[in-house]
Amino acid sequence: MKKSLYVVKYKERTIIISRDFAKARGISKKRLKKIRKLHKKRLKIIDRMEKADPKTDKVFLREMLQKLIKLDLKVQKLWNFEKSLSHLQWWRQVPHCNCPNPTFYGVSPSCPVHGFF
Ligand SMILES: [Zn+2]
Repeated sequence: MKKSLYVVKYKERTIIISRDFAKARGISKKRLKKIRKLHKKRLKIIDRMEKADPKTDKVFLREMLQKLIKLDLKVQKLWNFEKSLSHLQWWRQVPHCNCPNPTFYGVSPSCPVHGFF
């Protein structure tokens, strides 16, 4: 029997992709492979962010956030979704974020990742 889920793993982190969902969206195997690669990259970036110090590595954390956003836009495209910043699912789920409000626009100015101080 074919596996119904793809599991992308990096260290203890995982992302699960449903084969049926991919099929429903008309995603080819080749494209799915690219998506899985990008997800792995994401997990690596998040791992690096986690190890960073939110007090001294703000510049690094914000650079990594930009990378994540670019990566997510690529993933959206591969999934045949319209590119849209407001549909990014992951951008909040990053280490060291202290934003109070889980929406795209409501960021805390002092957040080491999303803020600007
Ligand atoms: Zn934040």
